[in-house]
Amino acid sequence: MQTLDKSTLINKKKKKVCAIINLGDIMDCIFCKIANKEIESKELYQDDFVIAIMDINPKSIGHTLIITKEHYTDYTEVPAEVLAHINRVAKRLGDALMEKLEATGMTMSVNYGSAQEVKHYHMHLIPVDSKYKGKKTVDEAFKILTTKAED
Ligand code: AMP
Ligand code: ZN
Repeated sequence: MQTLDKSTLINKKKKKVCAIINLGDIMDCIFCKIANKEIESKELYQDDFVIAIMDINPKSIGHTLIITKEHYTDYTEVPAEVLAHINRVAKRLGDALMEKLEATGMTMSVNYGSAQEVKHYHMHLIPVDSKYKGKKTVDEAFKILTTKAED
C-alpha cells in the first residue's frame, strides 16, 4: 500500500520552525500520543505516515479516524504528497469498512478552524446506514472490523 518515500517527504526546514513554535501543543497533543503509542487506541491500520483508529465517540458504527503520525495542526500544513497518501488509505479503508459493516454509504470529512476540536490533522470516515446501525458499541464494532471472515 505504501507508495511514498519517507525521505522525499519532510520539509526539514519548515518542520524545525513548526517544532519551535508548537512544542507545547505537540507535547500535549492527544493524537501525537496515540500515534506514538503513549495512549491506547483501537487501531485498524498503520504505516510510516498514518495511523487509523476507531473514534472514541462515534457518530455511527465504524467511525474511524485517519491520523498523520507527524504533527500537522490541520490540512493547510500537510504536504500534498501526504494528502494524496491519506486519500489512498481512505479509499482502501473506506471500502473495507463498507464491506465489513454492510453500510450503504460513507461520509469522509476533514474539519478545520473553529470546526476542528483536536488540532492535529485527521480525516473522519463515517459509515452510513450499516446493517449494525445503532446496535454496536465501539468495542463490538472493533471486533467485527478486526475479525477475519471465515474461509
Ligand atoms: P474534530 O472535531 O474533527 O477535531 O474531531 C475530533 C474527533 O476525535 C472527535 O470525533 C472525537 O470523538 C475524537 N477523539 C478525541 N479523543 C479521542 C481518542 N482518545 N481516541 C479516539 N478518538 C478521539
Ligand atoms: Zn499532534
